[in-house]
Amino acid sequence: MNKPDELVFLPLGGCGEIGMNMGLYGYGGSWLMVDCGVTFGDDLTPGVDVMVPDPAFIVASIDKLVGIVVTHAHEDHLGGIPYLWRQFNCPVFATPFAAGLLRRKLPETGLGDTVPINEVKPGGNFSISPFDVSLINLAHSVPETQALAIKTSAGTILHVTDWKLDSEPLVGPATDEAALRKIGDDGVLALMCDSTNVFVEGRTGSEGPLRKSLIDVV
Ligand SMILES: [Zn+2]
Repeated sequence: MNKPDELVFLPLGGCGEIGMNMGLYGYGGSWLMVDCGVTFGDDLTPGVDVMVPDPAFIVASIDKLVGIVVTHAHEDHLGGIPYLWRQFNCPVFATPFAAGLLRRKLPETGLGDTVPINEVKPGGNFSISPFDVSLINLAHSVPETQALAIKTSAGTILHVTDWKLDSEPLVGPATDEAALRKIGDDGVLALMCDSTNVFVEGRTGSEGPLRKSLIDVV
């Protein structure tokens, strides 16, 4: 367990690999989980369709886990909940879109209505002591993708999930740069940020013009 005054980030999945994201923030003797995703089997894992992160670390201190926050509705961010929630038995926080998708998936593993899902509107806030969490709209390929400003009495961490700075996105509003700027002005201890092509230099074009050119081509 982390010391009470330490603010710790511990990824159990999703670092150094594609998919099955599972991050833990530890503070004041409590842990908050960010995302619980799957990854899919390939030629190297014959007979395996879906893989989940190994949650043994947090299961060993399960009374310290205060909740799971879902950043968005992609499988690599919420698809592990139906398989692993029985071991966590804690509240889940998600936007209405992600919550709706999750509710559809839970019966596949017999969970039905047993999982307490708290809906938080995009750009909203919630508190689960000792964490205060503010959601910030991000442009991504699924509705209601949210960055998380995770505030503690030690300071704020900005957890930016899959994201894009796109002035003309095809799904949902553009990234709320004003909200991000305000959080930056207020002070951020660390930015937790991940990108599949983080080492590729340059800038990806907007999806708006891409749509037009694809329609022309098709
Ligand atoms: Zn995604």
